[in-house]
Amino acid sequence: MKHQSEYRAPELARSLADAIARLRTRPWTLMEVCGGQTHAILRYGIDRLLPADVELIHGPGCPVCVTPLESIDKAVEIAGQPGAILCSFGDMLRVPGSRGDLLTARAEGGDVRALYSPLDALTVARDHPDRQVVFFSVGFETTAPATAMAVWQAQQEGLGNFSLLVSHVRVPPAMEALLDAPDCRIQGFLAAGHVCTVMGYTEYEPIAAARRLPIVVTGFEPVDLLAGIHRCLQMLESGQHGVENEYRRMVRREGNTAARRLLEQVFQVIDRPWRGLGVIPASGLGLSDAYADFDAERRFSFSRVSAPESAECQSGRVLQGAIKPDQCPAFGTRCTPEHPLGATMVSSEGACAAYYRYRPTVRPSGPPLYPQPDSQS
Ligand code: SF4
Repeated sequence: MKHQSEYRAPELARSLADAIARLRTRPWTLMEVCGGQTHAILRYGIDRLLPADVELIHGPGCPVCVTPLESIDKAVEIAGQPGAILCSFGDMLRVPGSRGDLLTARAEGGDVRALYSPLDALTVARDHPDRQVVFFSVGFETTAPATAMAVWQAQQEGLGNFSLLVSHVRVPPAMEALLDAPDCRIQGFLAAGHVCTVMGYTEYEPIAAARRLPIVVTGFEPVDLLAGIHRCLQMLESGQHGVENEYRRMVRREGNTAARRLLEQVFQVIDRPWRGLGVIPASGLGLSDAYADFDAERRFSFSRVSAPESAECQSGRVLQGAIKPDQCPAFGTRCTPEHPLGATMVSSEGACAAYYRYRPTVRPSGPPLYPQPDSQS
C-alpha cells in the first residue's frame, strides 16, 4: 500500500500539474485509450487540474463497451440452448444486445454464471461433463492471456464440453482507426499501461513514426497519469514523436514474452466489429486453427437476426472521443446505470458511467442530478 500511496501523493500531483501549466504554450488534445484511465481521471479530477486548453478525450478502451451487439446476441442464444452453461465476466451480463441481455436470459431459465476468470469455467466444465460449458470471453490484450491459458488447458485435458465465444480486441488497430477519422483531434496518446505490461510497446512504434505523434505508456494512479500527460506535452511542445514509457515499474518494451508466445499460439489476428465504431481490420483475436475445436461459434448455430443500436444512444461518438458523455441528451435522465441505453453506461469502465459517478452536473432547474461521489471507493 505504501507504493500505491506514493502514486496518489497530493503534493506530487500538484507539482506535476504546475509543471504542465508552465510547459504548455498552446492548446493540446490528448486521448487516454483505456477506460480504467478514464475512471481514474474523473475520480481524481485530473482533467480539472490541467490548464483549460489541455483537453483529455476518452478513448474506446472499455472492453465491455466495444463488444458488438452480435456477440452479445450469440451469447444470449447459447444461454437459451438446453443443457448449455454460459459463463462470462459479471459486467457482461447487464450489457444489452439487440434482444435483451444475459441477465434476462437467466431470468428466462438459462444457466448463466458470472465468473472472475475463464479458468474458473474449466472447473464448471469438469463438474458438469454432460453439459456444454461456454465462456464468453471479451477484453483487450490484458485479459486475452487468461483466455488463452484456459483453452490451452482444456486441450491438454481433452475437455470436450468446454468452448469459448471469443470477442477479444486489439488496441493498436483501433488507435489507427481513430486517427483516420476525418474529424480526429488527437495529437498524442496515453497508451494503456496494463495492455503494454502484456504486449510491450513495439506495436506502437510504427504508429508513432508514421503519424508523427507521441504515444506515452501511462499507468493508472493520479501521479502516473499526470506524469504521462507531462511527458506527452513535453514531446508535443518540442516537436518530438515516438513512444515513451512512463510506467516503467510495470512495463518493458518487449512486454511479457511468455504471455505473448501463448497468445500467438492460441489466437490469430482477425477483423472484428467494435460497438459504435464498425469493423476495424486486424483488430480482433480469434482462435487459431489448432484450437478451432474449442470455438463455440462452430458448436452452436445462430439465428443471425440482429436489430440496430438504440437510435438515441451516442456511445459510438463517445467511444471515438467526438463528444463527452454529458453532451449526450439522454445522459443522466433517460440513461442511467440503473436503466442504461448503451454499453458505455453499463460497464464499470464505461465513460458514461464514469461521468455519472464522478462528475456532478445540475439539471437546467432543480437540484443536483446526483450526489458528489466522495464516499465511493
Ligand atoms: S449517456 Fe447513455 S445514451 Fe448517451 S451515449 Fe452514454 S450510454 Fe448512450
